Amino acid sequence: MKCSEASVALSKQYDGGQLSLSEKKHLDEHLAVCLPCRNFKSQLQEITQELNSESEISKSSANQDQLPQSTKDKLSQKLDKK
Ligand SMILES: [Zn+2]
Repeated sequence: MKCSEASVALSKQYDGGQLSLSEKKHLDEHLAVCLPCRNFKSQLQEITQELNSESEISKSSANQDQLPQSTKDKLSQKLDKK
């Protein structure tokens, strides 16, 4: 497997796509011998984790917007005391 193929396979994997067994095997074999592609993989992992935590934050802030103003005030008062 070439680096270009490995990066395509990695992007596919972290994009929620499924790799075939032979793709996975070739990718693992390539990652075992190729440091740049291992770095690329860890970058993808970090980005994926960041995206996941960002969507968690936007979910909770969206819920807060639905609360009535009085509830929000109580909430911020509680937070201020901490
Ligand atoms: Zn490579």
